Amino acid sequence: VRKFFVGGNWKCNGTVEEVKKIVTFLNEAEVPTEDVVEVVVSPPFVFLTLVKSLLRPDFQVAAQNCWVRRGGAFTGEISAEMLVNLRIPWVILGHSERRLLLNESNEVRREALQKLDLLFPIYSIMEFVADKVAYALSRGLKIIACVGETLEQRESGSTMAVVAAQTQSIADKVRNWDNIVLAYEPVWAIGTGKVATPAQAQEVHSELRKWLRDNVGVEVASSTRIIYGGSVNGTNCRELAKQPDIDGFLVGGASLKPEFIDIINSVW
Ligand code: 13P
Repeated sequence: VRKFFVGGNWKCNGTVEEVKKIVTFLNEAEVPTEDVVEVVVSPPFVFLTLVKSLLRPDFQVAAQNCWVRRGGAFTGEISAEMLVNLRIPWVILGHSERRLLLNESNEVRREALQKLDLLFPIYSIMEFVADKVAYALSRGLKIIACVGETLEQRESGSTMAVVAAQTQSIADKVRNWDNIVLAYEPVWAIGTGKVATPAQAQEVHSELRKWLRDNVGVEVASSTRIIYGGSVNGTNCRELAKQPDIDGFLVGGASLKPEFIDIINSVW
């Protein structure tokens, strides 16, 4: 009953001309109907309305981030309210590129936020992302929430502890999981061409589902989509898609190319 989900994270790529070309091949593609696969593409903020206006109606759009609370004096940020106002249904939160490269939720950020006197609770390491998830959900957005371990963490045997802690921080602040898709994206597999093997991915997905069952609930565990991200392409998607606990993909590089259509079609 978990509908296959394919997300295309365009990251910080594209010009108006390139974006229009991508939309053209998406619009011309033959893919299964909406009741079989949910397709969501995530262009940079500046192209969101353009893409939404040109894109076929059976595909949806997602923002790649949003601010943690109500909008206000936060230069350069985009609020959940704005996304709702523009009828953008989805937002990607907690992507590792934001966690690791942009210090989302690290100590420096925590101090800065406390100084802002925003009446925020004191942040623990992972709560910044969880607060974003909870706030965006409360505004009516649907969330692609990303978790995943670094190579160092995998090699030290702490993969499951890391993804469980990241998921726990979300679970602490969220009651209803209906509008959350969980994306398992091992950092070592992102943009590296080193895709997780189907067995490696399945192992973490099944552990994550078990974690949800034990810590959130049986119903949430069986209905929440857990999608895989990290060097997915038009070829390796087929074996990954066959794994029982892999419910779709979050695709980076390959989502900018026509092979994204093959990934959508890997549902069959
Ligand atoms: P790549 O598919 O380019 O490895 O990126 C994965 C990703 O980070 C999707 O969010």
